[in-house]
Amino acid sequence: MTPLPKRRHSSARQGKRRHSISIKETQLVSCSNCGKLTLSHQVCKNCGTYKGSVLIAPKIKTKITKVEENTKK
Ligand SMILES: [Zn+2]
Repeated sequence: MTPLPKRRHSSARQGKRRHSISIKETQLVSCSNCGKLTLSHQVCKNCGTYKGSVLIAPKIKTKITKVEENTKK
């Protein structure tokens, strides 16, 4: 005989289990620097700042490379 569950799970218990599996909507927060919607607790992809400090160079890479070339000469 195969092992069987002793009691049936209630529909509430089933719902709780299925809720944890469900895909949650992403929580977006407006950036304190540029005001664009970004993921919370993560660096803003638009301006590259987190908690007021620039960590990543902004998205516009072409302009930055031109500035770097000018400084080398
Ligand atoms: Zn930003």
